[in-house]
Amino acid sequence: MKETEFGGQWITLDARGKADVPTNPNVGFIQGDGTGPDIWAAARPVFEAAVLRAYSGERKIHWLELFAGERAAREKGAALPQETIEMIRKSVVAIKGPLTTPVGTGLRSLNVLLRQRLDLYACIRPVSYFAGIPSPVRHPEKVNMIIFRENTEDVYAGIEWESGSEEANKLAKILQEDFKVSLPAGAGIGIKPISPGATKRLVRRAIAYAIERGLPSVTLVHKGNIMKFTEGAFRKWGYELAQEEFGDRTITEADVQLRFGGRTPEGKIVIKERITDSMFQQVLLRPEEYSVIATSNLNGDYLSDAIAAQVGGLGMAPGANIGDNAAVFEATHGTAPKYAGLDKVNPGSMILSGVMMLEYMGWTEAAELIRQALGRTIKERIVTYDLARQMSGAKEVKCSEFGQHVIAFMA
Ligand code: NAP
Repeated sequence: MKETEFGGQWITLDARGKADVPTNPNVGFIQGDGTGPDIWAAARPVFEAAVLRAYSGERKIHWLELFAGERAAREKGAALPQETIEMIRKSVVAIKGPLTTPVGTGLRSLNVLLRQRLDLYACIRPVSYFAGIPSPVRHPEKVNMIIFRENTEDVYAGIEWESGSEEANKLAKILQEDFKVSLPAGAGIGIKPISPGATKRLVRRAIAYAIERGLPSVTLVHKGNIMKFTEGAFRKWGYELAQEEFGDRTITEADVQLRFGGRTPEGKIVIKERITDSMFQQVLLRPEEYSVIATSNLNGDYLSDAIAAQVGGLGMAPGANIGDNAAVFEATHGTAPKYAGLDKVNPGSMILSGVMMLEYMGWTEAAELIRQALGRTIKERIVTYDLARQMSGAKEVKCSEFGQHVIAFMA
C-alpha cells in the first residue's frame, strides 16, 4: 500500500471481504447535522486515546472529513456529494453522525440513499447491557443480541404509489385484468421485493459473524406464515444458505431436538427460526436464548429498536451498515436538533459505533479499552442528561465531559 496525499494509507479488502488495515489508515468521517458535531467532538478524542494507549503510537488513524446532509447542501451544493461516496469507497471504512434530509431535495432519506449508493446491504446493530443504565425490564443483562437486518429490499426498496395516482390506478387495473386480484377503490400500493441473492448475502454475513465470534445461534426472523413468497422465502433461502455454505458448522434447531436429544453437538451453530410476532415476545421473555438475528428489512427495523429499549434505549445503541466494498458506522439516533451545539447529548451511540469500527478493522485491543472504560464511567454514574434524569445519585456531565471521563477510565 502506498502513502497518499491524505496522510495515511488506504484500507483494502481481501478476496474474502476481510479488511486489510495498514498501521496508519485513512478513515472517513461525517460529523452530521444537529447534534452530530457535538457527539463527534466528544467521541473522536476517545478513539484517538484508545488507539494511542493500545498500540503506543505504532498505529494511528488519519481522519478524512467528508460532507453530507445540511452542511453539504449549503457548502457543496448537494446533500450527498458524489465526492463523499467516492471517498467512502476509497477509504472502505467511515463513521458518521446523524443526518437531516434537507427539505425540498426530493429525497426520501439521505441515510437510505447513502446505503443504496454504496450497496451497504447489512444493517448491523449489537445490543448489550451496561450495568447501571436504567432499563424497563428486570434482567437487561440477559440481553446480548446482534441484529443483521437486510438493508436494500422489502420496504427500503421504496416502491410505492399514492392512492389515486396514475401509477396506482394502472397497476390496480393490471392486477384486476391479468391476475384477478381486486383492490379496494383508491388503495395506495406498495411492492415488497425479497430476493434469494439479497437474502443469502445477508444470512451469509450473519453466520460468518457467529462463527468468527464463537456465538451459539443464528435466528432467522420472518413473517412467512402470512407472506409466503417474500418472508417465507427469506426463511427458505436462509436455511439453504446455511446448508450449502456452512453445512459443516451449522445444525438446525429441529435436528438438535430430533437427532441429538436437545443437546447441540460441539462446535455447531444452531440455526433457529421464529415468526416475527412471536420473536417480539421471545426477546422480552427469553432473551438469553438468542444471539445473532438475521431478518428482513421491516422486521429488523422494529425489532432492533424494541431490543435496544430493553437495555436503555437508542442513546447508547450503535450501528453499522456494511457491504462487500465499504462499511459505514453510525450513531443510530437522529440529529436531536433542539440540543444542537449545547454540548449536552449522549455521545454513547457514536462512541460504541466507533468500537464496532475498530473491531471491523481488527483493532480489538483499542475497541476493548473503550468498551471497558465506557462501562466504568456508567457504573460510576457519570452520565449525560438523558440517563441522569432516570438514575438516582447520578453525576450529570456534558457531552464532551462524558468523553473525557471515558478516556480517564482507560486502564
Ligand atoms: P432524534 O433526533 O433521535 O431525537 C428524538 C429524541 O431522542 C431527542 O429529542 C432526545 O430525547 C433523544 N435523543 C436523540 N439523540 C440523543 C442523544 N445522543 N442523547 C440523548 N438523547 C437523545 O429523532 P427525531 O427528532 O425524530 O429526528 C430528528 C432528525 O433526525 C430528523 O431530521 C430525522 O430525519 C433525522 N434522523 C436521522 C437519522 C440518521 O441519520 N441515522 C436517524 C433518525 C432520524 P429528549 O427530547 O427526551 O431529550
